Amino acid sequence: MASSSISHLLENNKKWSEACCSKDSDYFSKWATSQSPEYFYIGCADSRVSPDMAMDLPPGSIFVHRNLGGLVNHKDLNAMSCLEYALVLGVKHVIVSGHYNCGACKGGLLWGPTDGPPLTAATVADVKAVKEMNAAQLEGLPQDQAWDKLVELNTMNGVKNACTSMPVGNAWKEGKKVAVHGVVYNPADGKLKEICEPITGPEGLKSLTDTY
Ligand SMILES: [Zn+2]
Repeated sequence: MASSSISHLLENNKKWSEACCSKDSDYFSKWATSQSPEYFYIGCADSRVSPDMAMDLPPGSIFVHRNLGGLVNHKDLNAMSCLEYALVLGVKHVIVSGHYNCGACKGGLLWGPTDGPPLTAATVADVKAVKEMNAAQLEGLPQDQAWDKLVELNTMNGVKNACTSMPVGNAWKEGKKVAVHGVVYNPADGKLKEICEPITGPEGLKSLTDTY
């Protein structure tokens, strides 16, 4: 029977904290009372994807929101409030990240109307909508290629939604320098791939293809 204790995690944490402080005695104290992150990351909750680790960033660098599929949805109060507050904190880069082998995107590709646990299915419906909007790009592809393509399309849809969101729109209206980026992470090699040019204002949206 599996242990119900997380004592091993607490022990790991103690060792990690001590190791950080042994290299730099101010490692934590410099971030103890404030933060001014440069980056906001929105991506999937997948256990293989760790943005701080993948981008080798120390605490205080990146404000993070993660959800199933890394969706950027204007109706998602949690995601939108994280984005809004990240901009209040002064982030300069909004990074929308998908990842290959994403279960939410596989569900979006393959699930029928009655498949999946109910709350998961309700979220995956957003990915299905991306699939339907881009059916021509996916048609005829072998399943694995269609899955990868849908990951990229879903990420691009997130980039578009971030750019057309109220928080980013207001930041641009106020003249703040904020760039929105689209990247896809590959759990097979730990590499991030940029899938579009950074978008730095409403006119940048025109650079996205009509299919997105
Ligand atoms: Zn995922």
